[in-house]
Amino acid sequence: MERNDIKTVIRNEIVNCLLELQGFLVVGNWKMNKTKQEVKSFLNDIASYDFGEKNTIVIVPPNPYLYLFEEKLRYSKVLYGVQNIYPKGNGAFTGELSLEMANDFGCKYAIIGHSERRTIFSECNVFISKKVRACVQNQIKPILCIGENLEERKNDNYKQLLINQIKEGLSRIDVSELSKVVIAYEPIWAIGTGETATPDQVEETHIFIRKFLTDEYGSDVGNDIPLLYGGSVNPTNVKKLALAQSVSGFLIGGASLNAQTFKEINNILNGN
Ligand code: PEP
Repeated sequence: MERNDIKTVIRNEIVNCLLELQGFLVVGNWKMNKTKQEVKSFLNDIASYDFGEKNTIVIVPPNPYLYLFEEKLRYSKVLYGVQNIYPKGNGAFTGELSLEMANDFGCKYAIIGHSERRTIFSECNVFISKKVRACVQNQIKPILCIGENLEERKNDNYKQLLINQIKEGLSRIDVSELSKVVIAYEPIWAIGTGETATPDQVEETHIFIRKFLTDEYGSDVGNDIPLLYGGSVNPTNVKKLALAQSVSGFLIGGASLNAQTFKEINNILNGN
């Protein structure tokens, strides 16, 4: 074997060992996709699959399919959640879903402030902060999504925008409750576009966010908050992204829809 080939083999082994040691939070956001039959076949497909001990796997389907998740995943380590909630108890809120209902179906996570909710449904930071608080009060972990669009990225003011999204999003909960929150950095220009942020871009932004969190909320709390990356993650790019500093896991859209692809991503994160 050539010297360079040996180096590559050793490097790959070290990378796989590093991945094997770290536990990642992997969240699949199905958005408004899949039929009942497709959901059933996905769940059958993953039923006997061993996702391993260290990674936490969460799938977030459209609400009508939650009953299937409750039925099929009751004894599984795979968790599930909702893509949105309304921050009130039951009542006259046509078309909305309460945390009580999400809890009733065994949901453990809720995606809050996804860029599609912010842009298509005009959700603002204040509304989002109420949802974060409601989740925490109801024992459902909010995954607070933050991220800049391409123009904001180019203007170079995106870091201040990210800080505002975090500060305002978390403004209605106590510092002691921050360990119940997950933050997902999702640059809008990389969501569903096939254009991933490079590992260097992800690392730079995650280090920046982590520093803000520790400066603002103290190092214990700030280091404890899982920081996910989301934006066109797939089996080809996930390994390099996972090695970026301060990446605790991934929020995955398109590549979470196919059971094989989702399992492949998990295999890579398990160092296989
Ligand atoms: C998402 O929906 O949050 C997302 C990151 O989607 P995709 O992986 O398809 O870019």
